[in-house]
Amino acid sequence: MTTREYPTGESAGLPQQPEIPLQLRAVMNGIPAMVAYWDKDLRNRMANASYCDWFGTTAEALHGTHMRDLVSAEILAANQPHVARVLTGEPQKFDRTLTDRTGRTRYTHIAYAPDTVDGEVRGFFVLITDITERVQAERHQQRDMDRYRTLARSIPGVFVLLFDSDLRYLIAEGQELEAFGYRSADMEGRLLHDALETGLADELEPRYRAALAGQEVSWTRTIGDRTYGLTARPVFSDDDAAGMVVAMDVTERLQQERTWAALHEIATAVARSEAPADIAGQVASIVRSLFDVDSAAVTRVTGPTSAEIVAMAPIRPPTLSRKHIFSANDSSATVRVAVTGQPALVTYCPDGGTASEQMLAGGFRSSAAAPIRVNGSLWGVIALTSKSPTGLTRAMLDRLAQFAELVEIAIGNAEARASLEQQASTDALSGLPNRRALEERLAKETALAQSQGTKLSAIVLDIDHFKKVNDSFGHPAGDVVIVEVAARLRQVARQGEIVARVGGEEFVWLLPGSTGAEAVQAAERARAAIASAPFGEVGTVTISAGVCELREAGQRTLLGCADRALYTAKDGGRNRSYRYGNDADEAATEASRPAPEAEAALKARRA
Ligand code: GH3
Ligand code: MG
Ligand code: MG
Repeated sequence: MTTREYPTGESAGLPQQPEIPLQLRAVMNGIPAMVAYWDKDLRNRMANASYCDWFGTTAEALHGTHMRDLVSAEILAANQPHVARVLTGEPQKFDRTLTDRTGRTRYTHIAYAPDTVDGEVRGFFVLITDITERVQAERHQQRDMDRYRTLARSIPGVFVLLFDSDLRYLIAEGQELEAFGYRSADMEGRLLHDALETGLADELEPRYRAALAGQEVSWTRTIGDRTYGLTARPVFSDDDAAGMVVAMDVTERLQQERTWAALHEIATAVARSEAPADIAGQVASIVRSLFDVDSAAVTRVTGPTSAEIVAMAPIRPPTLSRKHIFSANDSSATVRVAVTGQPALVTYCPDGGTASEQMLAGGFRSSAAAPIRVNGSLWGVIALTSKSPTGLTRAMLDRLAQFAELVEIAIGNAEARASLEQQASTDALSGLPNRRALEERLAKETALAQSQGTKLSAIVLDIDHFKKVNDSFGHPAGDVVIVEVAARLRQVARQGEIVARVGGEEFVWLLPGSTGAEAVQAAERARAAIASAPFGEVGTVTISAGVCELREAGQRTLLGCADRALYTAKDGGRNRSYRYGNDADEAATEASRPAPEAEAALKARRA
């Protein structure tokens, strides 16, 4: 800028801005900033249009005016140090908040530039830039930042990272940040690679860059026992690209989702009519993976000090017995639950008794167990076992207890259904399977025998002269005889065979794998078992039996043929066995000849 000699002092008779060429004045008037020149006596020598507008004056009026007559005493005092310094040749820059003529607050940036001629300061130029909009924008941004912070800090389970295009953290805020081992103060203002360890920074960098490029990237990260869902996304701003990472603790949500999936699996098993023991098996394997533990078991509590392992995951080792008698002060988590009915968390220690020692010997360090109650009483216990000393926590125990409550519904349903099925297929008086159960089993066994070519035989048994038992001793005594006959038949039957009560005093004995001849021997065993010992006051009772083997039934049904053989046995004098389609089967008829005493007793009753 051109500098000139000005006459100084009030008495000097100031010229009316003659020294500033018109062109220069026009240029200065076009500048939006306020420009003025003050001499070293603080008298105005020049002011552009913006400057004059601010003060509501004109360049002509201002010319020669002392600074104290233009600004308030307060501003004059504030200017004083800067004026003093600029007059020593030192340029000044400072910000000032001013109130304009309309009373609005303006933020300004002020620069004083010394006008030095031959080493002497003659005056100084003042350049005032209105930075109100910039300041307001910055404050706005600051407020946004503060809002981010407040938000990030106040939401539990969340943290927020804001970074600029250099991957420098602007904000690192949130209660959860420390779960990652970082503090806000250590991250803010630092570059990604300075704030985080190399491996992690390398892993994150492409995600951050993708966010800066406008993409949204999501991933999960597990830290300790918590899982975080993280999303990096762009933050759109006017000036510079920025990105933001929001991390949320999704542990609970994932657990909930997995729990519901597990329950759905169990509910499906219930719907498929699986037996309670099979459902327990599912529960064990599901909770093991759900809680990610070394083993899980479902134990049925069978008495005050007895329990039975119903299911285990992984599968129960053959060395481990299924049934257990325990002492009430046993330290195992399962026993704690069986005794107290309350969830239990147990850490095994060397002097913790036999159970502790056994668990420690197996490498197990802790167990969590919760009760399964069905219809208000303790059905069993669901237990988790971990080899890690920190493997099971109180939070896991709470979750397990909640899970057990839901499992109760499934097991309760399965039990109720199993008991209904049992009722529907059992004869109430004798406790034997009824006709419905027999028919189901007969259909299965017939199909199996036909497809595999194996033997199948049936025996139909009927109590002889049973009307007379009722007539002589009364119906209740008759019932007792039926129950006792049923018990004796059950005793002579072998595993895999079925004895059913199909009518009043009529029974069917199904013998998979037996030939007709073997079935005749079985019938004889039954006949002997009934006839050999008296039935209390009723005395001796006898039965007749009709036997048939499936392959000898031809076009008839197995039971139909056995029934025909029964009639032949009755016709033949009762207390005997007869085999269908084998009139000449001497062995059968010979074996079935009544014992002389039984014959005598029968004759006596008939009389
Ligand atoms: P048979 O030697 O020809 O078989 O002579 P029976 O008297 O046993 O004749 P039948 O088998 O036809 O008679 C069955 C009788 O059993 C008829 C009925 O009074 C009696 N009965 C059927 N169901 C029951 C029951 O549940 N309890 C009792 N006490 N009696 C029954
Ligand atoms: Mg009868
Ligand atoms: Mg009968």
